[in-house]
Amino acid sequence: MKDLKHLYYFENMLQEANNDLVRQATEEGKIAIGSVCSQIPEPLLNLPGCFSVRLRAPRTGSIDMGTYYMTSLLCECCRALLERALEGGYNFLDCILAPDACSQMNRCVENIEKLQLCTKDKFFVEYADVPMKCDETALKHYVRQMKAHLLEPLHDTYDVDITEEALREAVRHHNEICRLLNEIGSYRKEHNPRITGYEFAVFCLASYACPQYLLIDKLRETAEELKTRKAEPNNPFRARVVLIGSEVDDLDLIKLIEESGAMVVADRFCFGSFPGREEIPMNDTEDALLQICRFYMTSGQCPRFMNTDKITERKEYVDQLAKEYKADGLIYQQMKFCDYWGYERASAAHIMREQYGYPVLSVDRPYVVGGSGQLRTRTQAFVESIEMKKLQNEDRKGGVADE
Ligand code: SF4
Ligand code: SF4
Repeated sequence: MKDLKHLYYFENMLQEANNDLVRQATEEGKIAIGSVCSQIPEPLLNLPGCFSVRLRAPRTGSIDMGTYYMTSLLCECCRALLERALEGGYNFLDCILAPDACSQMNRCVENIEKLQLCTKDKFFVEYADVPMKCDETALKHYVRQMKAHLLEPLHDTYDVDITEEALREAVRHHNEICRLLNEIGSYRKEHNPRITGYEFAVFCLASYACPQYLLIDKLRETAEELKTRKAEPNNPFRARVVLIGSEVDDLDLIKLIEESGAMVVADRFCFGSFPGREEIPMNDTEDALLQICRFYMTSGQCPRFMNTDKITERKEYVDQLAKEYKADGLIYQQMKFCDYWGYERASAAHIMREQYGYPVLSVDRPYVVGGSGQLRTRTQAFVESIEMKKLQNEDRKGGVADE
């Protein structure tokens, strides 16, 4: 396929946490807010004069120092982020707004705070409690927490506009980014898609890792470009999969899966497009903050939600995605030592295979996967097993037709 005009630009941008667009925004005087979990509503981090940056540690090598502070039994993502902070990689941040969701990530952020690894004068860290259940009581608590640990500190420290109109404007902007990414990603539904899962992941990840107001024009151009882009004459992929699990910020994982023959047609991982790039519906009667929090609570797919309805909903959500994007199989991946996804992966892999009938590959993985021969071999074997299953189904259909 003809190269997408802005793909290389964004691939380059994603090589650094403090990339050119982040530098441009900070030079313009914008407040840089570090984000570490999908449960802090993104529009609240993109209020006028602010921009969110999902913390990542691209091109991670050794994580020895991170491991020294956090032990080798905690998730590698948290250790890699701490390592990057120890190297001074997040000095551009004005604050980190973290939820009390994952205690491992909290240890990482606490270390950044206590070791004073971000050096801006007014730099601060706040932790907010986020819901584990989805009901009205949890929603009220969520709203109060977002006010006390996010909006008020931003206003008090940096004079950020937290009025109703500012929140609504942030949602309008957020929805525009979502609309563009949904349009770009929708081509993955095609029988022979005109965009690969890897290409889509580059644009989607950039929308989390760069100031959104500086990349929206390039997303618009890409959406336009895709309208007339031609797919390869012959589909190079032998299978279609949904990728599910804990946060993926290493694009090499998606590249590895696609090089093994399976196209990633839908992404249901933290900081991915489902549900992270779904538009927030707003009405004119209720407070914007209430509506934002309700949307994040009801659409959230984090395995930390423990009520039975949410546990069932997570499987149904994946089933629905697989049907909509015509997936042949599911890949559940989990960062090593991640408790939440450890439980979810074990149960969901079994349920999706036995009750929903999908071929499932279930793997744990390091933070950086590029050189993982084992993962490549397992993915290749999974693709072959899907192909075998397809052939058997065709034979069976042929047999019935012959009878
Ligand atoms: S699994 Fe849950 S706690 Fe962890 S990053 Fe995702 S949303 Fe946040
Ligand atoms: S991968 Fe799991 S343990 Fe690591 S930060 Fe995310 S939720 Fe926490």
